[in-house]
Amino acid sequence: MEISKEVQDFIQENVLERFLRYILVDTTSSDETGTHPSTPEQLELGRMLKEELLELGLENVIHDEYGYVYSDLPASQGYEDAPSISFLAHIDTSQAASGKNVKYQIHKNYDGSDITFPNDDKLTISVKDSPELLEMIGLDIITASGDTLLGADDKAGIAEIMTAVTAWKKYPELKHGHIVICFTPDEEIGEGTLKIDMEKMNQLKCGYTLDGGKMGELETECFDAWKAEIEFIGLSVHPGYAKNKMINAIDVAARFFSQIPEFETPERTEKREGFYHLYDLKGGAEKAEAKMILRDFNEEENKRRMEYLQSLKNTFENLYRGLEIKLEFTHSYENMIKFLNSYPEVAEKAEKAIIAAGLEVNYSYIRGGTDGARLSAKGLPTPNLFAGGMLLHSRKEYIPTKALQKATEAILLIANNWVE
Ligand SMILES: [Zn+2]
Repeated sequence: MEISKEVQDFIQENVLERFLRYILVDTTSSDETGTHPSTPEQLELGRMLKEELLELGLENVIHDEYGYVYSDLPASQGYEDAPSISFLAHIDTSQAASGKNVKYQIHKNYDGSDITFPNDDKLTISVKDSPELLEMIGLDIITASGDTLLGADDKAGIAEIMTAVTAWKKYPELKHGHIVICFTPDEEIGEGTLKIDMEKMNQLKCGYTLDGGKMGELETECFDAWKAEIEFIGLSVHPGYAKNKMINAIDVAARFFSQIPEFETPERTEKREGFYHLYDLKGGAEKAEAKMILRDFNEEENKRRMEYLQSLKNTFENLYRGLEIKLEFTHSYENMIKFLNSYPEVAEKAEKAIIAAGLEVNYSYIRGGTDGARLSAKGLPTPNLFAGGMLLHSRKEYIPTKALQKATEAILLIANNWVE
């Protein structure tokens, strides 16, 4: 299938209008509230999307109490037997920078020079920050104004899916099977699939999250992720009379973490290298608590790290008699390649679509997690497709308008590949 010029023009206009509208709703999630959704603002965008899906005539439009939005697009006539698939994007934005009162700037016909911001004259985006800018000369680039993030992560994904739905409704020549549209809350705090209706999603063949970065990107791998909670129980004694009695928990903890190899930390690793990351340590002489994450593409490497922590615990308990160290590991998510390898056609159809949209496929891996990883583990193979945003979670976040358009085309082409 080829996407006609008329459809392309329609997409270009529709997706930009939607994107610029959705980013005005502040949907910052929070890892502190403990509620579902984590912030009530996310419900506002959810309600908007529900209304728009109803207007577009989709079936079973649901906006549930947790903030998830679901809807069904029935198959094109004659394609009722084609596999059912889903497209997903997340409603929330990262709390790394404010998402309130986003004022966008469109830098038309980008010329390769530094991009500046009206509300922060110290902030610039240069080719050094983002070498990909060199490939975007001549394109229109959208940024925020310097005091907020843009929200392309993941309102670009939402706008692209909504535009694809609009195009399917308007142009019957765009063939597709049954499609479930799903927008999730709280992805940025790792809870995007916590309350998802798996009974509904598991009836589908596969899903595609529109949550990747650069145009052409297709992600089938992510970290294998563990969390370690470490508690040091010492003994507090008056410091003037503490000789051979005190076991200073926070001091012991500091020595313990100095044994973590420095070359296996986030600031010393890249690409396919894994790490230990100590991100919280607090306490006193009596007790100290630490939180650490372990990340690797290879789960055996994470097991090795857990064994090392276990051996450190034994060594330290032997070294400081009376000290107790409690060590607890939880598996946060798994590398989705493990699950996607059993369904190679899922990524293949996306690859074919990206090429048909006129882009080069950039097979990539996520040095982090994605909703798709958890969905894949729960039985719905879900790779991650580019949404187009760059320098995400930052006030420097930007997106070329062309990416919005191409991701929408890729969605239409993927759906078509599943009925061919
Ligand atoms: Zn995202």
